[in-house]
Amino acid sequence: MRTIGLIGGMSWESSAEYYRIINQRVRDQLGPLRSAQLLMYSVDFGPVEQAQHAGRWDDAALILEDAARRLQAGGAECLVLCTNTMHLVAPRIEAAVLIPFLHIADAAGAAAVAANTLTVGLLGTAFTMEQDFLKSRLAAQGLTVLVPEADERQAVHRIIYEELCVGVISDTSRQVYQRVIESLAARGAQAIILGCTEIGLLIKPEHSDLPLLDTTELHAQAAVAFALQD
Ligand code: GLU
Repeated sequence: MRTIGLIGGMSWESSAEYYRIINQRVRDQLGPLRSAQLLMYSVDFGPVEQAQHAGRWDDAALILEDAARRLQAGGAECLVLCTNTMHLVAPRIEAAVLIPFLHIADAAGAAAVAANTLTVGLLGTAFTMEQDFLKSRLAAQGLTVLVPEADERQAVHRIIYEELCVGVISDTSRQVYQRVIESLAARGAQAIILGCTEIGLLIKPEHSDLPLLDTTELHAQAAVAFALQD
């Protein structure tokens, strides 16, 4: 089995999900007492989040480059960056190490293509919904990506940082997300990419009429496929 390297902590609420899902999938595939060989370097989200909101992406990249090098030095054979937003600096992280970087948008895009849902709605932080780093990588896989309207984006973003990243799961916020999903469906979305690794804590398949493509699940699955490939 290959050793997976996770860059976590953004937030740790979703890193814990990666750890759980990866181990469950390895167990499902290899047997009841089998578990993943992995390393996690979990950063302090505080300085990363401050850098994001101040637009200091270089500072955030330095923190994640350092994490990537530590994982490589510790024996990780691939890198899994457990957040969509910080894929904004993915090229910097990839360039800092020699081991493969498993991009979150490749995992999500492949699932959308496999399900033949080529028009997708994208939920995530404002950075993810408004900037191009994830959307262009999805578009390159043949997808048309719809994002919520400005006021909806603001609500989706606020709930991520003020609630989901601090472990707060509320029915009111679930209803907000459900309305946003309905309006994306009305605009033609055939599936919804949960493009923030905490959204799956709030929105489960039973909360949506559209199929959900949960980046946490799909990215964790890609990590397991890498670890178990011959
Ligand atoms: N985990 C989130 C994401 O997938 C948001 C937190 C962050 O900004 O890293 O984008």
